[in-house]
Amino acid sequence: MNVLPVVGRFAPSPTGAMHLGNARTALLAWLHSRALGGLHLLRFEDLDTGRVRSWAYDTTRRDLEWLGLDWDAEFRQSERLPVYADAVSRLTAAGETYPCTCTRREIRQAIEDSAGAPHGHEPVYPGTCRLHGAMPGRPAALRWHVPDGTVCVTDALTCATLCQNLPAEVGDFVLQRNDGVYAYHLAVVVDDALMGVTDVVRGADLWTATPRQVALGRALGSAPPRYLHVPLMTDFRGERLAKRGGAPPLRALREGGEEAGRVLSALARSLGWAVPERVSAAELLPLWRAQLTRAGFFINPQS
Ligand code: GLU
Repeated sequence: MNVLPVVGRFAPSPTGAMHLGNARTALLAWLHSRALGGLHLLRFEDLDTGRVRSWAYDTTRRDLEWLGLDWDAEFRQSERLPVYADAVSRLTAAGETYPCTCTRREIRQAIEDSAGAPHGHEPVYPGTCRLHGAMPGRPAALRWHVPDGTVCVTDALTCATLCQNLPAEVGDFVLQRNDGVYAYHLAVVVDDALMGVTDVVRGADLWTATPRQVALGRALGSAPPRYLHVPLMTDFRGERLAKRGGAPPLRALREGGEEAGRVLSALARSLGWAVPERVSAAELLPLWRAQLTRAGFFINPQS
């Protein structure tokens, strides 16, 4: 049995209204924390102020409350800038960061020019500014010089293992943009560690970002949480729902008089769970436990 108290979180970006896909991830994160008797945190990932919509905090809270998904503490990343500054300065003091003045276009060009440009992978920054220095007079981002070697992660829900050679497959990534905004990878790793998050339930789109986050956490002296990646919800065309893609907001259902129990039932059915037409979030707890049991979660809880 797991002896550590479980701390889970839902970490929405308040860049728009939650759609059904966001709601399903929120539901599963809540079910996980509560099924294990743990604490559940709500963390607004609002560092990219240009994309934040000020109304989205309240709408998100109301949507969650409507579905019956409560939380024990709330955070806003925008109020935690000193903790990210501290993490960056520790990495800098260890000689692991460097300023980068390359533009996107220059990076694209450098990748195209290099013989070893990988196909089918995300573009890997070739380390230009680390090797040749930054251009004086240009605004500089700060990159992390990723450690040599391969980092493997095993998902505690899907049991999949992903190994990535960081220099070859990920490259030195940005910790702080040239406009001063701290990058998602940095903030998420720092926060999960400082908030004592033991279990990260999140969308499968972040699975390939996990090895670099584990490595960054290690560099900052923290043990990785368990990761459980859940499938993203797709529309009838098989395309993932996106705020920018016009997916209908949950708020429209709520304000249109829809019953939360029917929405929860639809979300559960979309996961293949056999449930009545109306359910409460608490009634879904046994189904999540059953899913964890099938994944072997309770046999090998430290994976
Ligand atoms: N803020 C991210 C998102 O809305 C989630 C980050 C995470 O769960 O690690 O997609």
